[in-house]
Amino acid sequence: MNKNKNLNKKIIFRVKKKILKETVISDKKYITTYRDIKRYFKYFNKILFKDELNSFNDIKIKKIFKASGQCVENFSYYKGTSFFVLEMLPKYKNKIEFLNTLSHEMVHLWQQTIKKDNGSHNKLFFSFKSKFKKLNLTLSY
Ligand SMILES: [Zn+2]
Repeated sequence: MNKNKNLNKKIIFRVKKKILKETVISDKKYITTYRDIKRYFKYFNKILFKDELNSFNDIKIKKIFKASGQCVENFSYYKGTSFFVLEMLPKYKNKIEFLNTLSHEMVHLWQQTIKKDNGSHNKLFFSFKSKFKKLNLTLSY
């Protein structure tokens, strides 16, 4: 058990370092890929959410009106359950914008699935602020 704990600590340390490398300011446009979304979802889940999050039920890369990303809750009357769709833009100003957006939507997923919260920009949402800051990520509205 102890060995696993140490291993997990090592992995978390390595992932944090990786994210810190990715969150340096850059002018380079970022093109969204499903592969990156899945990869960074895994990283953020580990270092921000203790691996508690279940993946989004679906991921869409599309044009979104007036937002840089969305966590959309759909209710299936047939199954009586909710499912969550992540919507991301096809491109971002730079990679940090992409990472900020993905991690932001993951907090909404966490609120709604783990905390059974309404998923608004409330106190629970902003409780992640300092954790984000340590990774050079910005948590905003
Ligand atoms: Zn939001």
